Amino acid sequence: LFLDESETIITRPKLNWVTEGGIRSTLYKALVGDPLGLSLLKIAESYRDFDVMDRPLAATMGISDEKTLFRISHHRHLVSTPEVKPGDKNKKEKKQEKGQADGGSKELNPWPDYIAERLRLYEELKKESDSLLAAKAADSKPIVVELPDGRKLSGKSWITTPYQLACDISQGLADRAVVSRVNGELWDLDRPLENNCSLEILNFDSEEAQAVYWHSSAHILGEAMERFYGGCLCYGPPIENGFYYDMFMDGQKSVSSSEFGDLEVLCKTVMKDKQPFERLEISKQTLLEMFQYNKFKCRILNEKVSTPTTTVYRCGPLIDLCRGPHVRHTGKVKAMKIYKNSSTYWEGRSDMETLQRIYGISFPDSKMLKEWERFQEEAKNRDHRKIGKDQELFFFHDLSPGSCFFLPRGAFIYNTLTEFIRDEYWRRGFEEVASPNIYNSK
Ligand SMILES: [Zn+2]
Repeated sequence: LFLDESETIITRPKLNWVTEGGIRSTLYKALVGDPLGLSLLKIAESYRDFDVMDRPLAATMGISDEKTLFRISHHRHLVSTPEVKPGDKNKKEKKQEKGQADGGSKELNPWPDYIAERLRLYEELKKESDSLLAAKAADSKPIVVELPDGRKLSGKSWITTPYQLACDISQGLADRAVVSRVNGELWDLDRPLENNCSLEILNFDSEEAQAVYWHSSAHILGEAMERFYGGCLCYGPPIENGFYYDMFMDGQKSVSSSEFGDLEVLCKTVMKDKQPFERLEISKQTLLEMFQYNKFKCRILNEKVSTPTTTVYRCGPLIDLCRGPHVRHTGKVKAMKIYKNSSTYWEGRSDMETLQRIYGISFPDSKMLKEWERFQEEAKNRDHRKIGKDQELFFFHDLSPGSCFFLPRGAFIYNTLTEFIRDEYWRRGFEEVASPNIYNSK
């Protein structure tokens, strides 16, 4: 009956208006009798080849023969309402194209002064640290490294790195490696092993490695932000969908999405440079000197670091306070996209400084980025707020920003679902209660 869209029933039968002989509505005067069974309509079978998101509710809600046909046909109508207005999308695309950079990378010229000053101090300290490491390497001892499958490899303390061992196992493994785990602790691939240990090589499939990958990408974005805006970097963590970096820009400037293209071009330059991530352990006191230009990093040092020393990582001109670990070098990041910006407060506190936040995402393969973009686009089209508006199910109003006003069609679905859930409650032996709509959590 309603498998063909041209024959979709558009009607509003009275809910549960069942006469002795069956269902009646003004449109179905003629039809008096038992409602057609769903099994007769072969809904599940007919929509078998459809993506689950494209199937009508009737095919996915677990509606059974006990439910009336009218209700189901009405659902079908609601779900099949055409919704994409062709004009909308083009406008957006054009806007984004305009945001793309026009070729070469734009950045501050000259770079902010703190970059050179920070680098000067870093290079002095790096020399010291390198000679310390050389002394330890000169005193190297043979070590045994155990792999997850129980295999044992031999190495030299303070010389052998996880990356070298990965290369011994297979070049493919080493190429795909994002980070390693040594005695249960995430460990830079180029950081020498210190003792007998267990070793695991992680690639992008591992969630922990993905976080390291995205966190490393945040350094790339941070470097681009310093070179482009010149402000003070704050926090740059990985998140569920990529990463972000916060920057303080004197509370004056703010980020515009029209700058995303320029930033991406700059990030690509950094990725092409294959800047190695160098790890350096430094005393807190020296770090306070190194970051004296940035009161936010000093705050982190004073409030969050309780050990006498902590680590910084360098990639290219960026030296960042960070525990690590990271990918081997910036070239490990193959595809990156900057997708959102917002303003925020230092540590989310509204009595503190306003910061600019830029969100990005990255992948070891440009195909994965394309796939992610496609998924985001689909998700946008399937956003319940968009569908709800297009299908006249509900609207939002400032009077109640978090809870919508249901229009007749939406109220119909709402009530149907409530009824469905209620039936399930009873069937499963639950009793109903009614709770307040709003609570005070204090
Ligand atoms: Zn880091």
